[in-house]
Amino acid sequence: MTRTTVHEPGREVTVFGDYEVVVAGGGPAGIAAALAAGRAGRSTILVERYGFLGGAGTAAGLSTFCGLHSNVHGEHLRTTRGIVDDLLDRMGAMDGLNEPHLSVQNRITALSYDISAYKIAAEELLLAAGVTILYHCFASAVLMSSDVEISALVVETKEGRRALTGRLFVDATGDGDVAAWAGAPYEVGDGKGNMLYPTTMYRISGVEPSAAGNAWEVIPRLMEEEEARTGRAFPRKKPIVRPQRNPTEWRANLTQIRNPDGTPVSGIDARQLSYGETEGRRQCWETFSFIKRVTPGFGDAYIVEIAPQIGIRETRRVIGEYLLTEEDILGCGDFDDSIGVNGWPVEAHVEGDVRFVFTPEGSRGYNQIPYRIIVPQRVDNLFVVGRCASMSHDGQSSARVSGPCFSMGQAAGTAADMALSAGAAPRAIDTADLARRLDADGVFLGEPARRPAWRERSAAT
Ligand SMILES: Cc1cc2nc3c(=O)[nH]c(=O)nc-3n(C[C@H](O)[C@H](O)[C@H](O)COP(=O)(O)OP(=O)(O)OC[C@H]3O[C@@H](n4cnc5c(N)ncnc54)[C@H](O)[C@@H]3O)c2cc1C
Repeated sequence: MTRTTVHEPGREVTVFGDYEVVVAGGGPAGIAAALAAGRAGRSTILVERYGFLGGAGTAAGLSTFCGLHSNVHGEHLRTTRGIVDDLLDRMGAMDGLNEPHLSVQNRITALSYDISAYKIAAEELLLAAGVTILYHCFASAVLMSSDVEISALVVETKEGRRALTGRLFVDATGDGDVAAWAGAPYEVGDGKGNMLYPTTMYRISGVEPSAAGNAWEVIPRLMEEEEARTGRAFPRKKPIVRPQRNPTEWRANLTQIRNPDGTPVSGIDARQLSYGETEGRRQCWETFSFIKRVTPGFGDAYIVEIAPQIGIRETRRVIGEYLLTEEDILGCGDFDDSIGVNGWPVEAHVEGDVRFVFTPEGSRGYNQIPYRIIVPQRVDNLFVVGRCASMSHDGQSSARVSGPCFSMGQAAGTAADMALSAGAAPRAIDTADLARRLDADGVFLGEPARRPAWRERSAAT
């Protein structure tokens, strides 16, 4: 008879180190959390399964920051501020930033960047703040000192299994791995198992810029015409193919990775993830071959890189003290415990398409992000930041992009410092004090009255 389980004997695990703040995951949320905690003087370690930072922004090849800007009463302003300013300054000094461009029906601003500059700038900032970075380190379990308190994060390294003991933990894995292991409640998808569909991204080089012109408008039209003429179906509607800092290089965000039964590939299912990588590369080659054949300026183009990993938009969303909803996003919701703002529209990757929903024309254009969405229920010494924070399926379709993730991370790192000083749990800290700290550190919290200089600063990139 085939066994379905085997017994793993208990064993002593070597302690790698003891830290005040242990951050799992090096995407935008983890970078900002570790940086804020490190800058506050807390002994901080960030563990990352890859050998570089940036999360989906580098590993999944995004190369664009969304959610840094809002359309405020018709005026495009940068509204995500704070630690991200230091990151952008460094990337800019490396000539690693494009000019901001109007994206999604020309209704919202995004900022594309050079992936290598992001990796280098982020780690330089963390190292300057005294943060220990441990790459090639996969978090695999937690040890609990009680039902509600984590005592150590267990990680797998090339040296073998190690434990990181700590006082406060930050789950920035995107998938809520740490929170799930610690017993925090979470949801997956829309409650019926439907998660946002993933995408494998790739970058095209060797484009002839003058011949390509506005190919970001031409390619979607050519694909539509091909579908109408031949009955062929591309992976999804609304393909995004746009130039990078160097206009000979373009990024392609147009695949949609489905299981054979049509459901989205799950980022927390080992077999599906593996299948998704193969299927993603197949779609990259198929779509690239079409673009190269029909698009002016792309005749000598080639794929310079298929992203190291499939881009996962949504898996677990950990239930916190508040759940940010689509109504909050579209209604420009206000919260007393604001830790920043989000102006990105709802961007739901549904089967075969992308559904965009904006805040009403002429509205303030952003919602505040409440601190309570990064404080999980049940577990006392944990923050959950980034795309796995406490948001509904539809709310997450907006507030999962990089801008809000930076804000959540900065708030977690700052709140960790406050909680440690007060000897209090994260859910018990004074959020008015937190707002004062974030405001002093340059975060725009969403009330212009609080920050008279905000408008002038926001006009800049
Ligand atoms: C295809 C695609 C295109 C997108 N396009 C854009 C865009 O153009 N602009 C934009 O702003 N946003 C975009 N997004 C959304 C955005 O990138 C993500 O939602 C955002 O990166 C989430 O940040 P995060 O820090 O929460 O998680 P992630 O960026 O996913 O980072 C999580 C990090 O944790 C690490 N990790 C995970 N599990 C473990 C573990 N167990 N142990 C150790 N390390 C672990 C991962 O390797 C990763 O580095 C896109 C997403 C996808 C998938």
